[in-house]
Amino acid sequence: MPHFVLNENAQTEGKHKGQRELHNLSVGKEKGCLPDDINQIHLFERPSCREAVLLARAIYPDWSINGCAYCAPECDEG
Ligand SMILES: [Zn+2]
Repeated sequence: MPHFVLNENAQTEGKHKGQRELHNLSVGKEKGCLPDDINQIHLFERPSCREAVLLARAIYPDWSINGCAYCAPECDEG
């Protein structure tokens, strides 16, 4: 199963401003889109980014969470 991480820091610009991005660790490593290690919140292995987003929203109900366009595009709500 893929291993997901959440960027602790919200996006500071662009259309996803204020959102925290969810990344697929192994794909993100290849694409070079991962946040710095210190800012990665590990959500561990989930069957898909959708389950990872649900988990992240359950843990951080106040956060707006969106899939990374590069490594979790099926959860990128644009
Ligand atoms: Zn990514």
